[in-house]
Amino acid sequence: MLGARRKSCLLWFAFFSSLTFMMVVSVRADDTPVVRVGVFENPPIVSIRDPAHPQGIAIDVLDYVAEHESWRVQYIPAAWGELLRLMDAGQLDVLVGIAYSEERARKYKFNRESLLGNWGIIYRRANEVILSPLDLEKKRVALMRGSIHSDVFVKSLMQGFDVAFTPIYVESYTEALEALAQRHADAAVVNRTFGALNAQKYDVVETGIIFNPIYIHYASPSGASPGLLQAIDKQLTMLKADPQSIYYRSLKHWLALPASSHWSPWLIWTTVGVLTILALVTVIAILLRHQVQRKTGELRFKTEQLQDEIDRRRQAQERLNRIAYFDGLTELPNREGFRQALAQAFDKTQRKQAWLALLFIDLDRLKHVNDDMGHDAGDLLLKKVAQRLRSSLRDQDHLSRFGGDEFVVIVQGAHAPQDAEQVATRMLRCLDAPIELGSSQVYVTASIGIALYPDDAQDPEVLLKHADTAMYQAKQQGKNRYLFYHARQSPRAVERLASETRLRQALEREELLLHYQPVVDLSDRRIVGVEALLRWNDPQRGMLLPADFLALAEDTGLIVPIGDWVLMQSCAQLRRWREQGVRDMCLCVNISSRQVGDHFIKTVDRILRESYLSPALLEFDIAESFMLTVDGKGRDTLHCLDEMGVRLTLDDFGTGYSNLNHLKQLPFKRIKIDRSLVAKISAEPEDMKIAATILMMGQGLDLQVLAEGIETERQFEFLRDRSCALGQGNLFSPAYAPEKLLTALLSSKPCH
Ligand code: C2E
Ligand code: MG
Repeated sequence: MLGARRKSCLLWFAFFSSLTFMMVVSVRADDTPVVRVGVFENPPIVSIRDPAHPQGIAIDVLDYVAEHESWRVQYIPAAWGELLRLMDAGQLDVLVGIAYSEERARKYKFNRESLLGNWGIIYRRANEVILSPLDLEKKRVALMRGSIHSDVFVKSLMQGFDVAFTPIYVESYTEALEALAQRHADAAVVNRTFGALNAQKYDVVETGIIFNPIYIHYASPSGASPGLLQAIDKQLTMLKADPQSIYYRSLKHWLALPASSHWSPWLIWTTVGVLTILALVTVIAILLRHQVQRKTGELRFKTEQLQDEIDRRRQAQERLNRIAYFDGLTELPNREGFRQALAQAFDKTQRKQAWLALLFIDLDRLKHVNDDMGHDAGDLLLKKVAQRLRSSLRDQDHLSRFGGDEFVVIVQGAHAPQDAEQVATRMLRCLDAPIELGSSQVYVTASIGIALYPDDAQDPEVLLKHADTAMYQAKQQGKNRYLFYHARQSPRAVERLASETRLRQALEREELLLHYQPVVDLSDRRIVGVEALLRWNDPQRGMLLPADFLALAEDTGLIVPIGDWVLMQSCAQLRRWREQGVRDMCLCVNISSRQVGDHFIKTVDRILRESYLSPALLEFDIAESFMLTVDGKGRDTLHCLDEMGVRLTLDDFGTGYSNLNHLKQLPFKRIKIDRSLVAKISAEPEDMKIAATILMMGQGLDLQVLAEGIETERQFEFLRDRSCALGQGNLFSPAYAPEKLLTALLSSKPCH
């Protein structure tokens, strides 16, 4: 309501004002009043860059008013001071874009409706710091001469804060910002709208210090008629009421110019240049990255190839090392691995002047497992024993498999004797529990010999020998125990032990060998068989005959493994001869009574199968002394062999042990007259009688007779004439190495 009344009042007022105006303004020929309008550079309110066509918000509004009020406007562009002078002289009708102040209001008439609110603002260069008016002390400040903001800045702000500064007066806001940008001033005072639109162009920024809020109006000289200003007010009021009007469009146009339109060419070119460089750098970076990726890929591939090669070589080396220094079955260090470890341990122990103990371990029952259950079971047993032994030891104790069923432990430390004793006890105890072999359970014991450095020996080899000797003594004392080596034994005992040790090693070191003596048919002196005779090529003592070591082998039980070896070797040799063309040749092998145990039948059967030989080709010489010790089991074994088809011969017949009852009860097919009896066949009729009697006895018992040790033609003829079927002796051929006999054997005749 109130608004509508005020509007109608205004309309009446405007009508009368217009009438008055019509009377006062000069009238041209076409009756259109000319209004002289003073303009000065104050964008965006007014810009007179093109003096013929001023632009800006105040101009847009005034042009609109002029159009609606039918005025002809004559713009008079000039500097601010000049315009004020023209105003004072009454040569202007309207001055546009003048800020209202009370002082000015006393001099000029102002229209009522303000065109724009504005205020003063201080600008600085981007790299300078001005936070408050106090920071302007001793600084140069660019000010537009006659500007109301400049007046307020000087009189109120600077004087109010008592700041001493140097004013740099210029003619326009544009010059003020230019002075700042070109470093002729340290700060510049402009109005808000001008600053917002132009600061970017000069690369200057707001300080945040604002002051003197003012309003922009149109003004006329004091003596002028109010009609012009009233007409302006009327139109301006209507324009402000309509959001779509030229007033708002003009504000939007002049106050929201796109920032880019203010970009200076050098900034645009710099930006384009920078962007181009950035693009180039990006392209180069992508290319380089691609190159680097490709090279990195190639490098990685080559590195991987190299790594693969290194891995392969390392694995090959490790495999070689494993083969060279480790036992494939138990995965423990082998003899070589042990020797290395012992050398290192000796070195360390000598440097530290400490103790070292060697424990030589030999399993007591492995052979039985091999014979009863086969070699696979024996291997499994060894593996399990090795695991148990290892787990019974401390980390610092070195366990290795020395060969067969022998293991060695190196114990180092300050208390080696006690430590060694503890280690030995633990190892014996760890074997107490039965070992599972498939569905069977096996009990294993071990004998352990211990030798100490430095007490027992100063040298690794000697120390090992002593530990071995001690182990052997432990075995002799009943097995399943440990024993320390004692250097204070009698020289004979020491020698005997040493011999035993050497004999045991002889088998492993392949120092044993077989010679073969032909068996001939005495009727035609042709070879019908061979007897395998054991020899020991001892590196220290030369070629030894059975008489030199057989008793020891019997005493120690070594005859059992040695006998097995003889049987296996000789069968393999017969096989080779047969392959070389020797047909139906019998093989005679000497058997010790100690061999004829539980496993003998299986061993014989296995060896015959492995060498593809018929049992009929095999003959066992069993010494007469066997009769003294043979028991029921032994007899059973001999019968079993007989049933298999192996021929049994009673060897050394006539040396005094034979019990004729036993002889009848056992399945012998042949007797061998001992060479001591044959040797007595000479000219002496008494001696000849003994030989003749034995021959007759053999024939009476339905046994074939073979005479050993025939050295002379006379002995041969004597035996042949008394129907002795077979003979051996140096007269025909001594025992030779197998290769030496081949030619003779190839011309032999069948033995049966
Ligand atoms: P033996 O079974 O009575 O063997 C015959 C022995 O007489 C052999 O002695 C042989 O070399 C020797 N001999 C053969 N012809 C003559 C001769 O014309 N004159 C003389 N003086 N001797 C002759 P060797 O090889 O020393 O064997 C001795 C004994 O050792 C054998 O007597 C045998 O009982 C035993 N022996 C040999 N090899 C083995 C074996 O592998 N195992 C077992 N358990 N005993 C064996
Ligand atoms: Mg014999």
